[in-house]
Amino acid sequence: MRVMLLVDVEGVSQVDDVRAASWNYPELYAQTQIDVTLDTNAAIRGLRAAGATEIIVADGHGARVRPHNFNLLPERLEPDVKLVRGASHLEAAKGLDALAMVGMHCRNGTPIGFMGHTTSGFTAVTFNGEWFGEVAMLAAVAGERGVPTILVTGDDATIRENHAFMPWIETAVVKTATGRTSCDCLSGDVARAQIETAARCSLEQLASMKPLVVATPVETEVWFPSLYHADLAEIIPGSRRVSETAIAQTSESFFDARRFFSTALRLASGVRASGLMKTLMDDPETAAGIIAHHRKEQEDFWKAPPWITVELPRQIAENG
Ligand SMILES: [Zn+2]
Repeated sequence: MRVMLLVDVEGVSQVDDVRAASWNYPELYAQTQIDVTLDTNAAIRGLRAAGATEIIVADGHGARVRPHNFNLLPERLEPDVKLVRGASHLEAAKGLDALAMVGMHCRNGTPIGFMGHTTSGFTAVTFNGEWFGEVAMLAAVAGERGVPTILVTGDDATIRENHAFMPWIETAVVKTATGRTSCDCLSGDVARAQIETAARCSLEQLASMKPLVVATPVETEVWFPSLYHADLAEIIPGSRRVSETAIAQTSESFFDARRFFSTALRLASGVRASGLMKTLMDDPETAAGIIAHHRKEQEDFWKAPPWITVELPRQIAENG
């Protein structure tokens, strides 16, 4: 049996400080890498005990910004699993029997849910009028191809959110949220024992698990915190501006609907990029460095041979 195991960080047991989910705080993140690996190993052991013969571990957290860095510690991972970077591998995975998820978090806007966000802090999304988080979105990508989601671990808010989409899933609640940035964790050993048991039970009950299927055509609405985000995202072909801060599109498949969401997110992230640029340009020394970089870029472009050659039309013979 072939299982994909998606791994995120916010819902890992023992991670109870928002800084610990970020490599920008190396003094905390080092311990997080150990915790993520231990949660993942527990799930691998459980899946194997129930007959998984091939496990693909997709390390998802921050994959787009750091595509070459794993959160998991490969040298401490259970042997004989295939490790890939990024949940996007789900789209290409062939012949999966089931999808399992470890360390997950709730959707953006959840008042009491540890580190709730939907792929970014500046996006929220509905499909056919329902608010989706990352778990349900990934489950629906698999579901459209007939693959059931069987296991989700994370805080209590994550589990409540996703039980509503998928009442059949096995779960492990490894912590209880007390706010958006705080939670009470089980001890590591207890949490990992629960993950292992839930993983084993989930695959043992594969026959009663179901794919999460979103009805087509899919109506998607992407919501942003400001009209500047929506201004950048609304240029997507086929999108409609439905409010100052939201855009919508109708898609023939969930695959395309999610692509619309991802494209909107990437375009809207320009707001963040220009904020960063403003901060950098406020410092005269950094600004001088950036300008020097741009000058060199321009000079190099005009000095180099053209990277493409397009012939002019043939001269039209003059009359007479
Ligand atoms: Zn994450």
